[in-house]
Amino acid sequence: MLGYAYGAIRQGADVQIVRVQADVGPGFPRFTIVGLPDSSVSEAKARVRNAFHHSGLPFPKGRITVNLQPASIRKQGSWLDLAIAVAILRASSPQPIPGDATVFVAELALDGSLVPQSGLSAIGLHMYNEGLNHLCISQDQRLPWPFHRRFHVLRARDLADVVEQLRDPREPALDKTEIRNRFERNLHVPFHIGGRAELRLLSICAAGRHAMMLVGPPGVGKTTLADALVHLLPDLPEDHALEVAAWQEIVDPDYIFSLRPPVRKPHHTISPKGLLGGGRWGTPGEFTLSHHGVLLLDEMLEFTHTALNTLREPMDRGFIECSVLGKPTELPADFQLVATANPCPCGYHGYGDCACLDVDVRRYWSRCPGPILDRIDIIHHVNRAAGRDEKQDDLNACAARVREARAILTHRPTGPRLSEAADRALRLACHQLRASERDREKLTALARTLAALDGQEDILVPHVEEAMIWRRPGSMSPTRHALAVPQKKSIGGDI
Ligand SMILES: [Zn+2]
Repeated sequence: MLGYAYGAIRQGADVQIVRVQADVGPGFPRFTIVGLPDSSVSEAKARVRNAFHHSGLPFPKGRITVNLQPASIRKQGSWLDLAIAVAILRASSPQPIPGDATVFVAELALDGSLVPQSGLSAIGLHMYNEGLNHLCISQDQRLPWPFHRRFHVLRARDLADVVEQLRDPREPALDKTEIRNRFERNLHVPFHIGGRAELRLLSICAAGRHAMMLVGPPGVGKTTLADALVHLLPDLPEDHALEVAAWQEIVDPDYIFSLRPPVRKPHHTISPKGLLGGGRWGTPGEFTLSHHGVLLLDEMLEFTHTALNTLREPMDRGFIECSVLGKPTELPADFQLVATANPCPCGYHGYGDCACLDVDVRRYWSRCPGPILDRIDIIHHVNRAAGRDEKQDDLNACAARVREARAILTHRPTGPRLSEAADRALRLACHQLRASERDREKLTALARTLAALDGQEDILVPHVEEAMIWRRPGSMSPTRHALAVPQKKSIGGDI
């Protein structure tokens, strides 16, 4: 007799739904698994046989052949144990076992209990996209809470419990491991935001996901400012958060699902490979791990020139191309870049006693490729003289305004449009300052964010003017920043 069950495997970033076929027939007792299993899948034979025995279920006598479809793809891991056991049960049981559309994902212990697996989000997301919505897992399995709403989840203790529940469905039990890790935004943290310009900068970058670089001497609070930006970012939509979980679980089996955007802070000694990821199994690098979140490069000029050059593709396209298991694949890498840098090797150029020669400062800034600096929307020199005039109310108002502006920018893809006068002003300024096409693009994006922060339908002239203050066309070259002196920005609009 033949029996079937669906299982799933995750190999690196790749998920595959596997149809397990079991054939039980007369003959010399023999248990064979075909369909390119590796040794970890083949070992399921011992686990399944013992699980039957300890669950009080009769293990069929005779010849058992299990085929894993598609047979052309190599399978690894213990994810298919439960699906293999259910397929054998269906092939050998005189009474039918319902749940044909259920995907069974669990390892079996020798005593028949179901062992939870790490990294189920990627499988859940794949199933959801394929329209499969019945899932059977261990009762101790951690599963992001949005899946409980999207799937019929059968949580079972052991193999016998699975059979019992498939024949006699119960009300789904409450998930004890479900953790609603909704981030309590604690803006009462002792962030020294600096002056009004810094607070405005944070709200612009948080609302529009603009790449920013903070330049200043040691101890001026660049890293704290970058951290504060992260706290101002709104929660992710559920779909984005699930995508984030699917990637994070590959490198962190204990990752707890959260709606907060991920933040990655790679060390400056990281290799280009560590940033890009890829390899045989498509292991995510820092770019992919910060997808939908923030990539924070502290002391950006300390990273190698080659590593910084790899930023070009993800900053332009939001993904990187690589080869996974021989197939060309796109790894997502839509992150917001936040960088900090000292103004010179000693750290005090333009801020006090600097012992560096101009040539040293220029050489220091040339570590970062010009095209990468040009792709950063705002390079802000943190002014040490700025007052510590942040107030709790300002921060809360700022977070609320950022959320509203993000909603405007997200739900209306074109966002606020350039009014006629603003368009004229932008053209004129770009012409006079010989702005590049990228400058023009970035200025329009900044002005759009400023209009969204103001709750305006159209981009007005003041928005263009303020955008010009934040990003002066033609001023993003390494040389210009090497010799820059911090200036107090005169900004318009509400914080
Ligand atoms: Zn110096």
